[in-house]
Amino acid sequence: MNKLMQPSSMREWWEEAVQQLRQQLGWQLGYSCIAAAVAVLALWRLVPITVLGGWWLVTIGISYLQQLWLEHPDSPMHPGTELHRPWVFQWLILIALQGTAWGLAATLLISGEGLQVAPPEWLQQLLILALLVLTLPTALWLSKLFPPTLIYLLCALLLPALWLHFSGLQGPLPFLISVSCLLLLAYSVLQSFRLLATTARQQEFRLEQAHQRESQAMQEKQTAEEQTMTMASLLYQDALTHIANRRHFDDFLEREWRRGVRSASTLSLLMLDIDFFKSYNDQFGHPAGDRCLQRVAGILDGLLKRPGDLVARYGGEEFAVILAETDAHSARALAEQMRHAVVSAGIDHPHSRAANTVSISLGVATMEPNREHAMGTLIQQADQALYQAKAAGRNQLVVYVETPDPERYPE
Ligand code: GH3
Ligand code: MG
Ligand code: MG
Repeated sequence: MNKLMQPSSMREWWEEAVQQLRQQLGWQLGYSCIAAAVAVLALWRLVPITVLGGWWLVTIGISYLQQLWLEHPDSPMHPGTELHRPWVFQWLILIALQGTAWGLAATLLISGEGLQVAPPEWLQQLLILALLVLTLPTALWLSKLFPPTLIYLLCALLLPALWLHFSGLQGPLPFLISVSCLLLLAYSVLQSFRLLATTARQQEFRLEQAHQRESQAMQEKQTAEEQTMTMASLLYQDALTHIANRRHFDDFLEREWRRGVRSASTLSLLMLDIDFFKSYNDQFGHPAGDRCLQRVAGILDGLLKRPGDLVARYGGEEFAVILAETDAHSARALAEQMRHAVVSAGIDHPHSRAANTVSISLGVATMEPNREHAMGTLIQQADQALYQAKAAGRNQLVVYVETPDPERYPE
């Protein structure tokens, strides 16, 4: 379907056209009354007063009906009102009546029927012309909408023109009227199409604007989402080391614990603590201590490869590593790798009694999560192992081993 002829464009065109008609409505109705009065004055002596009065009343009455129709709240002339077929039909009938009233007057003059005095031919022609010229403004007013123009012209001009043609009346009138009819119709078609093109362009422009607004809203939404995600990640990130914070650790451990219960897999936890960190701070200052924490965090984080692994700053100079679906053997190997990596980084720590460099102690605990064990037990066990590693001289790891309960296992 042609772009111009899309139903929505047609609708817009109709609304635009009736809006423009409405703007000139008062003028048009006033004009109809004046034109009728002029016609009555011109025909005063020629037509019996009863015919003239009746014609005048009918013409004014039709104009009045048109006004009532246009002003009615359900009239499609009101902006936003649905375009219902019966209403359009009624309007076209009113237009046809209006045209007929004028065409009838012209035809009466041509036929000479009902005239009191037969006017000379030149006067008759002049009067017919004057009557038809009086109808032109209405035709022009309607020209935005082709169908009403066509109906009006058919009734007001074409019928008298045909009559003129067949009555054998001499002179240029029949030709003049037919040509002006055609010109008016062509003008109306042109006007209708111009308006249709304009409204289609306006609609396109509005659509484009709506599109732009939509994409802008999408962009704003995306930015807001990104901001929310940044906020959320900040909420779960340690400000100094940029690894996971304690809150993230708690959530992650709980999730992995539940997953471990469901899948009956093992879960390992490493608790780490930097050895003699207080004396490191004392010797190099707090800012240097901060940088050391960042380096150790980076080393630990760099050793984790799987999505089920997480290193978090547990607090102060303590770190915790969660290893999902990892048995004690693998956890121990990774813990040793971490200890070795930190020492190998060669961060000077002359006051450490565990090594010449910064070192860490680690406690390793492994469990098969189940509903009988509390999650806190795993943390306690890893903590206990860490305590043992510290007690045993630091810079080493201890794997938690459950000591047999003497009461349960009597020797
Ligand atoms: P140990 O080997 O027994 O762990 O001894 P330690 O000195 O490492 O342990 P202690 O608990 O006595 O001291 C921990 C120190 O860590 C004390 C505190 O000033 C320092 N610390 C905690 N958080 C931060 C931090 O964010 N930045 C810096 N620079 N130091 C911190
Ligand atoms: Mg500590
Ligand atoms: Mg320490």
